[in-house]
Amino acid sequence: MVATIDARISADKPQVQPLPSTAAVMDLAQRYLTPNYRRFPVCLIRGEGSWVWDAEGNRYLDLFPGWGCGLLGHCPPRVVQAVQQQVAELIHVPNTWYTAPQAWLGQALVERLGFDARCFFCNSGAEANEAAIKLARLFGRSQGRYKIISFTGSFHGRTFGALTATAQPKYHAGFEPLLPGFRYAPFGDLEATARLIDNETCAIMVEPIQGEGGIQLPPAGFLEGLRQLCDRHGLLLILDEVQSGMGRTGRWYAFQNWGIQPDIVTLAKALAGGIAMGGMIARAALAELLQPGTHAATFGGNPVAARAALAVIDTIERDGLLERAVAIGQRFRQRLHTLQQRLPLIAELRIHGAMIGLALHAEGEPIVDACLQRRLLINCTQRNVIRLLPALTISDAEIDQGCDILEEVLTSYRP
Ligand SMILES: *Cc1c(COP(=O)(O)O)cnc(C)c1O
Repeated sequence: MVATIDARISADKPQVQPLPSTAAVMDLAQRYLTPNYRRFPVCLIRGEGSWVWDAEGNRYLDLFPGWGCGLLGHCPPRVVQAVQQQVAELIHVPNTWYTAPQAWLGQALVERLGFDARCFFCNSGAEANEAAIKLARLFGRSQGRYKIISFTGSFHGRTFGALTATAQPKYHAGFEPLLPGFRYAPFGDLEATARLIDNETCAIMVEPIQGEGGIQLPPAGFLEGLRQLCDRHGLLLILDEVQSGMGRTGRWYAFQNWGIQPDIVTLAKALAGGIAMGGMIARAALAELLQPGTHAATFGGNPVAARAALAVIDTIERDGLLERAVAIGQRFRQRLHTLQQRLPLIAELRIHGAMIGLALHAEGEPIVDACLQRRLLINCTQRNVIRLLPALTISDAEIDQGCDILEEVLTSYRP
């Protein structure tokens, strides 16, 4: 027999009644969802700021809200209000029509960029990077240039173009052949990058700070050097700011920390405060190549996502959250530096604003599990890097609470 949707969740009921248990949801998920995610045995039902609650009513402190999408924490009030208003007015119309929120968002993002540019909106980071890759191909086409250089340890997404740009064999395994025309240089190595450039190269694609790669900060002069290489050889510099953008590093765009300018920048994760949205922003003259028929996204720039993104920008500005991002980084640095002094387990601190990496001399997964037991949510990437992407709305008390637990767990860890 087919279960009616109404029995479990209906428009007349504010909550699913009765609340399902974590065990019941896990059982259904195992039966009906693809097994491609490694999930914690926890079913989350509610979030507010840096806190989430599970189906059993337990509360967790979240230092990794929404995998980086929760830049303003869970359910940020201005985003909630903007979305609620917008869904009641107009949910979706395709890009055959003009909608004000999309145009306003384009203006807001370009005005904070520092140069004249045009925005294309889509629904994810991978899709934003696909748009960038397609634009780079259009740019190089007349000269027979199509190769793109990206970097070891990078992460650009799971669709084929973005996947091929992602220079990590573990993500490629099983999906070959990949897209032709990608070359990989070691992150941070300008000379190796220069050696890969030939007369078929059209672009260099890089995360200013590698996120999934373990919060790898660019060595001094690296991003500036890439800009110079691009200028010298007539290449596009594509910056993937899907994780570093929208104020997480204390500037609207992370590249603004280094005083360089890209030709293309991509955004997603935090862009619309947790609502699915991606964006590709290209220099105005370059963007002219994207004539009607060249590219599109049905849901791209829909009014709900655009209104949410406008509310994110408004919140960051009104609440002084760019400055706060820097202060958050400093507070974590103070706490973690003191810990590092007495714990040889900690190899390196990698901190830029609210992007925080803690490289360990051991596997990090047991740390994540031990923190979960103490109701603290963190992430581990590249096996040995503890990654925190806290909300810019987190309080000093919450930072201290999180650091206390992390300290306790790290101190008692016997790898
Ligand atoms: C998460 C991420 C992506 C992929 O974004 P999706 O929305 O999952 O497609 C791309 N680039 C970077 C730098 C990311 O962190």
